[in-house]
Formats: sequence, C-alpha cells, structure tokens
Amino acid sequence: MPGRILGFDFPSPLLRPVPEKKRSASSVRSDDSRPDSMEHLRRPHFGKSHSHDKKDKDGRRESSLSRQAARHIKLDMVVESPPVLFLDSPQHSSGSLFSGRMQLVVTGAAPAAIKSFNLIFRAITSTKRPVGDHCKDCASKTTDLKEWNFLDNNAELSTGNHDFPFSYLIPGHLPTTAHGHIGSIDYKLFARAETVNGEVAEYIRPVVINRAIRPGNDKNSVRIFPPTNLTLNVTLPSVIHPIGDFPVYARMSGITTKKEDTQIRWRLRKLTWRIEEQEKFVSPACPKHMAKVGGEGRGIQHEHTRDIGSDDLKSGWKTDFADGQLEGEFTASIDSGLKPQCDVDSPSGLKINHVMVLELVIAEEWAPNKKPNQATPTGAARVLRTQFNINVTERSGMGIAWEDEQPPLYEDIPASPPSYRIEINDYDGSELNEDVDQLRLS
Ligand SMILES: [Zn+2]
Repeated sequence: MPGRILGFDFPSPLLRPVPEKKRSASSVRSDDSRPDSMEHLRRPHFGKSHSHDKKDKDGRRESSLSRQAARHIKLDMVVESPPVLFLDSPQHSSGSLFSGRMQLVVTGAAPAAIKSFNLIFRAITSTKRPVGDHCKDCASKTTDLKEWNFLDNNAELSTGNHDFPFSYLIPGHLPTTAHGHIGSIDYKLFARAETVNGEVAEYIRPVVINRAIRPGNDKNSVRIFPPTNLTLNVTLPSVIHPIGDFPVYARMSGITTKKEDTQIRWRLRKLTWRIEEQEKFVSPACPKHMAKVGGEGRGIQHEHTRDIGSDDLKSGWKTDFADGQLEGEFTASIDSGLKPQCDVDSPSGLKINHVMVLELVIAEEWAPNKKPNQATPTGAARVLRTQFNINVTERSGMGIAWEDEQPPLYEDIPASPPSYRIEINDYDGSELNEDVDQLRLS
C-alpha cells in the first residue's frame, strides 16, 4: 500500500522548507531523478490528496471529489458474513464465503443518473523495500480477484437507499492477510459510483483473511549429538497459536557413561527456548526498474528474523543418572504483544515461517560407581543447540475441545532421524561456574 509506505503528512499550506529526506520521499515521480525545485510540493493537489487519505472511524475513505460540491450520492456497505476464516491448509481449504449488501444512497431531492457503479475485491502485496527507491509501482502490486458491475448506462435511481447484494466464495488457497517487517498482504473491497454529472463516490473496506489449521497428533522429533551418546526427544503440538501457551516435553537419554569403577555423566544446567519468526520477501520490480533485477519475473530477496518469545529455565526437570536420562515438560508461548504473524507462503513473494530453537547447557561430572551421589564437576561444559519447525496458525472454533480430547500419540517417530541442524559448542559462561561453586558449598 503506497500510502502507508511512502506516506508523509504534509502541513497544508507548506510554510517552511521540507527536510531533504522528506523531500525525496514525497516525490510522486517513479524514477530516481529528483526535481530541482520544491514547486511540486506547493501544488494544491497535495493538500487534496491529504484530505483524500483521511480515514473516518470505520477505516473507510471517501473521495475528495465528492466533498467539493454538494453531494447527491453516497456509498455504504453492510457485511452479512462472519469474519473470514479459512480452515486447513491452502491445498485442502474450501475457502470462505463473503457476502454483504452494497448501498447507494441518493441524498438529493431529485433522482440521480448513474454512469457507473462497481465493486472490486482486490489483493494488495506491498513492501517496505521496493527495488526502485520510493517507487510506488515497485512498492505495491494489486490483483483484482472479483468485480461486480451493479449499474451502468445512465441508470436512474430515485431518492433514498438502494441495496445491491453481492457474495464471493474467497478461494481457500489464497495467502492470508499478513503484515511482516518487509512485506504485507492486504485485501480490500473498493466501490466506486459516478453520476452522469461527474460526481464520484468511493468506499473502501479492508477484509482480513485468517487461516486455522486444525490440530492433529503431537509431533515427536529426535535429535542426536555425535560424538556424544546424547539423544534428545521433543514433543510439540502440531499447531501453535499466536495467543496462549503450549506444552513442550523433552527427554534426553545417554547422559551417563559407566566404566568399571567410575562414571562420567552430563548434568543439564540450563535450558533456553526461543521462538523465531523468519520472513522472506522477494521484492518485484515495476517495468521501469526491471533492469535492476535482471529482467521480468525476477526480484530481490530480503530476509528478516526476530524472536517472538523466549525464556531461560534452570530447573523443572527430573534427572535419573542410574537410568541415564532426564526429562521434563515446560510451558512456552509467543509474546502476543509483538504482533506475531501466522505462517504464510504466498506466490506473490512473501513467506513467513517459525522455528523453536532449544539450547541446552550441560556440565560434565565424575562419580565413583559405588557412591554415585558424590559427584565432582570436571569443569567441562557444552551447549547443545537444535531447532524444530512449528506451525503458527489461528485457532479454529473447535480447537480447544479437539486438543483436550486428543491424547498424544507416539507412533510417528521416524525410523531414522530426519535431516536437521544441531550444534555442540564449548560453554564458558561465568554464570554456570557460579552455580557450580554454590553447589559445592551446599
Ligand atoms: Zn519501480
């Protein structure tokens, strides 16, 4: 949406010079050359476009043209369908029905002759990183998904309210509304009516599309950390919601290595979890800036990663050195205050996905087999780091009941570990050494 990306509020009328930064951003030209004077800023159409962008409390905009003269027509909309929620994945969703009534009100005493009256359901993909600096054609791409032509041919409407019902089965494969750091996907209904006298009334209404993937069996994942004998099993819900917490079960085996008289074992000292939101956007180029990306159909990929939830845990698990394993369950959640985005993978270039990163700080200790409780830290410590893909999606209406009734199933553990990233690093944090000292004293 170029208005948001390139929008600056101009005082009207302009009394003082605009700083260099704002001046270049305000250029309505789509090439890189800058105007030599600020004359273009003083043109009255800027004042008009400013008022044109003013929203009323419902987020709708009305044409500045219709304000100039006495109004004879105005537009409104009544939405009759519930909020748009796709169920299941883009491949399997049956979509969602949007229905409502467009209203054209003839406010004058005389009938109005309507030259045209139409409504468009439009998808808008926009980016804060356009290929051409400040180029609104690079920054935003629109696709008209559906159009209704209600009136044409100078149809005459009497004074009063006229309803025009419409409905649209929004296809379930469409990407959902998303507002990332680099790219955004928005949907809007644009209505426009024009009288034979040239009076124009416009109406814009955003439509938010959400998706809910229904929860299935919990996901079990196995990670091994060669050359150690450590194996980590983690159980996560199949879907995670932007609001609310979720359980994470972790079990690590192979923590004890016994020799004839002594044993070496790993003690878990700290567990850190982090939820990463990873965004990729391929910025397309407008025809004017196509040379910058090497031709049609190409773009420049931008990436942005941020943490949307994390915590450090220093206790809460059970360690059984005789059995050689430890286990525990903790609660994780996404910080809903950070405006988390749901997963989206759009053919128009925006992809947002999420991973849960686990870091386990383990410290090595030595003990005689006869007195396993008299352990001595060897001073060696490691950080085990691994990550798991998670699906972040809106709740479906039935989600909670379904989750409560579905017991976790453990049969879909893969025979061999899938490809994944693990890391083992030496740990030299002072924090841990302080803990070790305290343990020795007690
Ligand atoms: Zn461009």
